[in-house]
Amino acid sequence: MREITVDVAVIGAGTAGLNARSVVHRAGGSCVLIESGPYGTTCARVGCMPSKLLIAAADVAHEIGHADLFGISVDDVQVNGAQVLQRVRSERDRFAGFVVEDTEALPAEQRLTGKARFVGPTTLEVDDHTRVTARAVVIASGSSPFIPPPFNEILDHVITSDEIFEMQQLPKRVAVVGTGIIGLELGQALARLGVRVVFFSRSNKLGPLIDPEVSAVALEQLQGELNMKLEVNITAATVDEQGVRMHWRDATEVEHTESFDKVVVATGRQPNIGALNLAATGLQLNARGQPEWDPRTTQCGSLPIFLAGDASAYLPLLHEAADEGRIAGENAMLYPQLIEHERRTPLAIVFTDPQIAMAGLRYDELDLDATEIGTVSFANQGRARVMGRNQGLLRIYARRRCGTLLGTEMFGPRMEHIAHLLAWAIQQKITVQQALAMPFYHPVVEEGLRTALRDLAYKLSS
Ligand SMILES: Cc1cc2nc3c(=O)[nH]c(=O)nc-3n(C[C@H](O)[C@H](O)[C@H](O)COP(=O)(O)OP(=O)(O)OC[C@H]3O[C@@H](n4cnc5c(N)ncnc54)[C@H](O)[C@@H]3O)c2cc1C
Repeated sequence: MREITVDVAVIGAGTAGLNARSVVHRAGGSCVLIESGPYGTTCARVGCMPSKLLIAAADVAHEIGHADLFGISVDDVQVNGAQVLQRVRSERDRFAGFVVEDTEALPAEQRLTGKARFVGPTTLEVDDHTRVTARAVVIASGSSPFIPPPFNEILDHVITSDEIFEMQQLPKRVAVVGTGIIGLELGQALARLGVRVVFFSRSNKLGPLIDPEVSAVALEQLQGELNMKLEVNITAATVDEQGVRMHWRDATEVEHTESFDKVVVATGRQPNIGALNLAATGLQLNARGQPEWDPRTTQCGSLPIFLAGDASAYLPLLHEAADEGRIAGENAMLYPQLIEHERRTPLAIVFTDPQIAMAGLRYDELDLDATEIGTVSFANQGRARVMGRNQGLLRIYARRRCGTLLGTEMFGPRMEHIAHLLAWAIQQKITVQQALAMPFYHPVVEEGLRTALRDLAYKLSS
């Protein structure tokens, strides 16, 4: 077995791993990047980018289908599924291609191909060809789709986000299991492209929403558009000549069954840490096999082992993976003197239509006795109505004592932009009055945000 010694070994050439590597490199350290799968990152290959490309096509189909509202008739709209998927793949390949090029441009001696596993606190074996001894290790091994029973027994008929973009044709009938972020985004896009989509969920929770009022509005609107079987119990999924037969029991204990061509399983993602043999590090692991971990330093326990990106299961989002990669790379070089980083204000966006977004403190993290809440409905908001997209609700939370903005949840048109404005304001710790002193143009959806801020200001003063 080949032996190599480096300052920092990085497991995973995804967003977190690449960021960690480049920080180590800039700090003058020697580094090896170990990757067991294809280069290009989850985000670009099978995550953020192809999903948004599919959604972009679905949005176009949806807009055309609703042109009547504006007095425009469009006859005979055809969705060419093969061409839709072909564009998704070719644009996706372009995005991922840049990352592959950059990664392959790294000197060959700084890259290893194979599965890394710990054989000591900072010693790794990569497949059975190389032993790496490092001063510090960054684990940036990402996450994988979780496939629960009974779907793990019919894997040939199941697709996850890892496979969906490789489909050559759109299926006719799809069951989407899970109404989390990925299930909602992909399922709504398929439905808008003309696929019969039925969603299944054990709960009535949509994406990351927690605020009961925003959740209720989102549920009403999305259930109006999409076929959702919520609070159901899937009792079996069997293979038949037509594809997969789903059997489920609804909340009133009535049994149902329906056949689908494919089942899209979107029941969450699991950190890729099970195969790392973390036991060899001596780290204490919890019941889920996760080590004790500090989000400010990314350090595991007190060892020179740093965990970044989806593998940490902290905030499995692209910008957080990039941040954690940089923090991990920096601290891997500085160990044992570590820098504690204040993390950014949490921000999450779901690219459904209308969009779901949240920033700052979550509703279930608030001390409701010390919090005031401002609300705006988009049902009659001027610009939203102009665009024919007047649906949704936004709620902003502020500290009653001083009016400082704390958090927000929203469901409505173009919320990706309002969520950013509010995340920035919350991170700046500004008050409701300071936010209201900012300019608001007319007519824009941000005027809806101003209505919610005014509502909040009124409640704070009364
Ligand atoms: C469908 C979908 C849509 C998404 N949309 C968004 C979005 O809109 N916005 C957003 O912010 N986030 C989104 N995400 C999440 C985002 O893609 C992830 O948070 C991010 O890509 C995680 O990066 P990472 O570096 O942690 O992991 P990855 O990019 O997955 O990198 C981990 C790498 O480690 C490798 N690896 C694993 N184990 C080993 C081992 N033992 N040895 C060697 N190599 C190993 C893997 O092969 C992989 O290449 C989406 C995800 C999905 C699946």
